[in-house]
Amino acid sequence: MTLLFTNATILPMRDSDAVPRTFTGWVGIEGNRLTLVSDSREDADAFRAAHRADLREIDCRGKLVMPGLINTHCHAGMTLQRSYADDITLMEWLNDYIWPFESRQTPDEVALGMTLGIVEMLLGGVTSFVDMYYFEDRCVEVAERLGIRAVLGCNYFDSNIEEVFPQVERAVGRASTGSGRVRIAVAPHSPYTVSPENLMRGKALAERLDLGLMTHIAETRDEIRIVRERFGRTPVEHLDALGLLGPRTIGAHCVHVTDSDIATLVARGVTVSHNPQSNMKISSGVAPIQKMLQAGACVTVATDGTCSNNDLDLWEELRTASFLQKSATGDPTVLPAWEALRMATANGARAMGYAEGELGVLREGALADLIVVDLQKPHLQPIHDVVSNLVYCGKASDVETVVVDGRIVVENRRIAGIDLPELYARVAGAVRRITTAD
Ligand SMILES: [Zn+2]
Repeated sequence: MTLLFTNATILPMRDSDAVPRTFTGWVGIEGNRLTLVSDSREDADAFRAAHRADLREIDCRGKLVMPGLINTHCHAGMTLQRSYADDITLMEWLNDYIWPFESRQTPDEVALGMTLGIVEMLLGGVTSFVDMYYFEDRCVEVAERLGIRAVLGCNYFDSNIEEVFPQVERAVGRASTGSGRVRIAVAPHSPYTVSPENLMRGKALAERLDLGLMTHIAETRDEIRIVRERFGRTPVEHLDALGLLGPRTIGAHCVHVTDSDIATLVARGVTVSHNPQSNMKISSGVAPIQKMLQAGACVTVATDGTCSNNDLDLWEELRTASFLQKSATGDPTVLPAWEALRMATANGARAMGYAEGELGVLREGALADLIVVDLQKPHLQPIHDVVSNLVYCGKASDVETVVVDGRIVVENRRIAGIDLPELYARVAGAVRRITTAD
């Protein structure tokens, strides 16, 4: 089916726009590509005439059409642990709650958690996400079925590397027979939980299978201390010395980085995934995002998992990213709304390995991932500056319709092919089993 979104306020987020501008017009989709992004009535009429047989028009009066949001760091399978253990210290949280919970989860239950996480993200306008968890080979099918675009990072520690590496191969095999929307990555947990030898093995595997890499970097002060005691370096220096930093690497957090670390991240082309709410909730600190942007780093934004957030609402995360940076630097001019929005669109697309202009932007020829935001809401009126309204006032529930790869996956806030009450019942059943199992 060919789609034509009409009478829309269009926010294309083109890279050439320093400050994003909107216009009223039409967006047309053929197959999985945008083939019309225009303010010309003649262009729209020509598009209609060319596709009369299979055209579906969607009236977007009072609504905004923009690129879908991209969440660059998430543990979607952990959704079953949302609000399971909060307001305690990190070690108590891990030892007494999270690790025992995870040790009892089956691959099917992780896939169920992933389902809930993807449903939450799609309904909130996230069209692409980068995941990092276990049993990603099992989760390829979940992402394919729900229609989201994803990079699934197979997470490993020293303790489970032999189990996870075969999962990487299986995941690559499954993704290669799918839609092309799901990509696989190798995801060593962090420089303090994975030995240099096993970090290098991950890098070698990624090179052999032509995959990207992702890892947590410099998240807490404890990590800095441990890596310095063991290796005499900062986490960034350590990973760089091992050759793990490159344009296909996503570094989640990067909270405690030196000026020299920032220069290294920029020189290697690493994408930084900023997780402000997680950093606040776990008391990790404030990442120097303004400094990184000034140095030319590619910075993106993400929710992290639902244990340290506790939701997957990227709109909130955008707002927090901007406010936190203003608060931490004492400068209200830093990280303006449009820059935060770029982090969640064009920069996120780069993190996922897409060429500039291919994703995260509304432009003819780009992949057709877009969202329709209903502006007819009290908190989005009046509209002096629509980008400020989106970033500083927008909510996941403002997203009305979601298109990924040319396919409508959410329409009028209903997600295709999912019975939500049935999903919630299955989630409750899995949680009951896991928390009462011996
Ligand atoms: Zn994480």
